[in-house]
Amino acid sequence: MALKTYEEYLESLRKMRPNIHKFGELIEDVTTYPATKRTVEGHGQVFKMQHDPEFREMVTVQSDLIDEPISRYLSIIKSPEDQIANSRLKRLMFHRTGTCTGGRCAGWTALNAMYASTWDMENDLGVDYHQRFLAWLKDAQKRDITISGALTDPKGDRTRKPHQQDDPDMNLRVVERRDDGIVVRGAKVMICGIAAANEVFVLPGSAYKEEDKDYCVAFVTPRDVEGLTIVETRHLGDGREMEEGVGFDAPVTEGGITQAYLFFEDVFVPNERVFMLGEWKYTGPTVVNFILPYRSAIGGCVAGQGDIKIGSALLTARTNGLADKVFSDKITTMIINNETTFSVGIAAAALGRKHPSGAWQPDPLLANVNKVHVATLPYETSRIAQDIAGGIGETGCMPAAVDFNNPEYGHLVQKYLKAAKSADSRVKAARMVEWSTMGGGVPGCMHGGGSPDGAKMFIRMFYNSEKTVEMVKRIAKINEDIPDPGKKPRK
Ligand SMILES: Cc1cc2nc3c(=O)[nH]c(=O)nc-3n(C[C@H](O)[C@H](O)[C@H](O)COP(=O)(O)OP(=O)(O)OC[C@H]3O[C@@H](n4cnc5c(N)ncnc54)[C@H](O)[C@@H]3O)c2cc1C
Repeated sequence: MALKTYEEYLESLRKMRPNIHKFGELIEDVTTYPATKRTVEGHGQVFKMQHDPEFREMVTVQSDLIDEPISRYLSIIKSPEDQIANSRLKRLMFHRTGTCTGGRCAGWTALNAMYASTWDMENDLGVDYHQRFLAWLKDAQKRDITISGALTDPKGDRTRKPHQQDDPDMNLRVVERRDDGIVVRGAKVMICGIAAANEVFVLPGSAYKEEDKDYCVAFVTPRDVEGLTIVETRHLGDGREMEEGVGFDAPVTEGGITQAYLFFEDVFVPNERVFMLGEWKYTGPTVVNFILPYRSAIGGCVAGQGDIKIGSALLTARTNGLADKVFSDKITTMIINNETTFSVGIAAAALGRKHPSGAWQPDPLLANVNKVHVATLPYETSRIAQDIAGGIGETGCMPAAVDFNNPEYGHLVQKYLKAAKSADSRVKAARMVEWSTMGGGVPGCMHGGGSPDGAKMFIRMFYNSEKTVEMVKRIAKINEDIPDPGKKPRK
């Protein structure tokens, strides 16, 4: 059966070569190390849910490749319903974990992007990329693996192209082509959920021209492949204080966030796992194939985060003795923000189009509009949550759990933290406000899935403002030619 159990998932991670570092230590077992175990548990919840009748339909789907139920995270999105299920799944995952499970969602999006891109390259150029990709995907579905998605390069000087950088490794590139595969060098940075992943799906970070064809490479590699060194990033509220038994300092009990820096020092990738090699004209479309489903569904993810902010703010207020109605208008604004990102994503899914490969791709204008909302509205929702919670929630302004429980002065801490409800409930609720508004619970609303300015560029590209000018000229009976003076006339 293609659906792993939670224990089988943990076992698959334990078997991997340790190559992840944090706080100067090599992490021997990501399933028990304090700063990675919670992200593993968060990602692992889907393995519990796929065997639970309550959630099975949300998290699994029938595969037309292996004719078995598989994790949705390994499926190809072929209809608006599949894409809507993507948004709903991301919202659900936030509800279950209180944080980001990006080690599945970015990988899922990457494999969907390459499904379409490999089909285009095979169709246009006759290379067998799509067949290779399908062979890998079939196997991935049978093994029920967890895959991170890696696009972001260090990039170096943002004004220069990859081949113009002082150091050519600032963007990941191919340094050797062999009969049986390729060797890659460089890095991918800020990659979500690596500690919870079995494999990493690598895509080009941008659209490139011919002079940068060595940077035009897409492949999948095991997370523990020889030559790959990984360093986990730091996060507010993670690390040693999150250790088991420390109490409310670790606000979410089955979830945690990690991103990582991935250093590829001459990593070999066999041909059967290479899905693009030098086809520079296909890098732009590949990035677009990635951002359409990602920017549509991220609205569901941040709506889920927003739901957690509402619940946390209300709980903190209630423990202070304050009724929900005191904050009615503020809560309404939070709800509107959540449902805006969720529903624009759903609209992008509904108004999408079928790629010739059979993949369903959300509407590009609406998907990018959603990215800008996602980079804007959750910040207001966070502001309101902090407003409702008071200072104890704003910056987690409370003594640590060890002081709360200290035999000498803990009773004083608890006495003065108690409000209308127990000190214990009040600090736990307030920690959730802190976590979800400024801690590790924030899933990269601003830059995750690309910066909002990039999305704005696409919005201008996909919105036909010339058509609006013609529209108004017709109804206002303006017959004169009024071109945009900022545009050079075509020769
Ligand atoms: C929580 C989180 C999770 C993430 N997860 C993943 C993941 O799983 N996989 C992955 O691949 N990536 C991931 N990322 C990385 C994310 O995709 C990048 O942060 C994003 O693409 C922006 O790149 P950057 O951070 O290098 O910003 P920069 O490129 O440094 O951009 C900073 C600002 O400068 C502007 N800018 C940049 N270049 C130019 C230019 N040439 N001209 C004018 N303006 C410019 C940008 O618009 C932006 O406003 C994650 C990020 C976060 C925060």
